[in-house]
Amino acid sequence: MKIKRLILLLTLCLLLPLVSLAAGYDAVYDTSGDAGKLTVRFIGMDTLSGDKAGDSAVLTSPDGKIMVIDAGHPEAAADIMRALDTMGVETIDMLMASHPHIDHVGGMPALFDNYEVKAAYASIVDYNTSYTRAMMATLEKEGIALTRLKRGDSLAFGEAQVDILWPDAPIVYYDKYPEASTQFINNLSLVMKVSFKNTVFLFSGDLYTLGEKEVLASGADVKADVMKVNHHGDKTSSGKAWREAVSPQVAVITHNALADLRIPRKFEEEGARLLHTFIDGSIKVSSAGDGVLEVVVEKE
Ligand SMILES: [Zn+2]
Repeated sequence: MKIKRLILLLTLCLLLPLVSLAAGYDAVYDTSGDAGKLTVRFIGMDTLSGDKAGDSAVLTSPDGKIMVIDAGHPEAAADIMRALDTMGVETIDMLMASHPHIDHVGGMPALFDNYEVKAAYASIVDYNTSYTRAMMATLEKEGIALTRLKRGDSLAFGEAQVDILWPDAPIVYYDKYPEASTQFINNLSLVMKVSFKNTVFLFSGDLYTLGEKEVLASGADVKADVMKVNHHGDKTSSGKAWREAVSPQVAVITHNALADLRIPRKFEEEGARLLHTFIDGSIKVSSAGDGVLEVVVEKE
């Protein structure tokens, strides 16, 4: 009986395209199994309370290149540096800013100061604030070039590939820009697919539902195996059309609080495995490019 059950369990494990492994902070940031896989680590950020800690993800290409997408709120940089240091990262090959809000670029100066950053990327959106100026000043001081990205651009990330689906050029600014520009800027978030063989990860910053519709109307193919859920899982975003177009196996919400319970529920009802940094802590999702996803979470 026991053996039959074991065989059944093993068979089920083989059939499932998702493999979950042991939990724990060190397990998430253990890089010993990274070679030959595209690995994304969504950083759980809990240093900050009372404000949005924001987003940050560390990607490792199958051949060991490091990309960081977004760097959280200035105070959350400590969580990112702890993650990078646990991984043994000294050089960031590509540092990406999805859009210039404080919970996405606030921690950039700390990263530029503490790591060798080889190349920095942002979208073509112009936004002049004290924290974007702080980011630009650090870039200049460190002599790092900033490349502006738009729809149609593609970049090599080691053996993986990055395709930029959004924003579209040229950006048309309204008369009083940047007054009342929160939604305008969120809707111009970089939308990028990071792919290795048959596995696709989608990052689309803080797009609101209107922005999601605009991206879909541009004809962009956003289908992905793993997605970062837009705007920290808030109900401003993740409309039905977007959820259906992406139809992920794994949807990850990155937020230091629960923004809205309906959005995670919808992803689960539609068959995705929903992970949330507030609940799961740091999250690792990796794949050898064969469609099989390996998931490790900090908290179980
Ligand atoms: Zn945000």
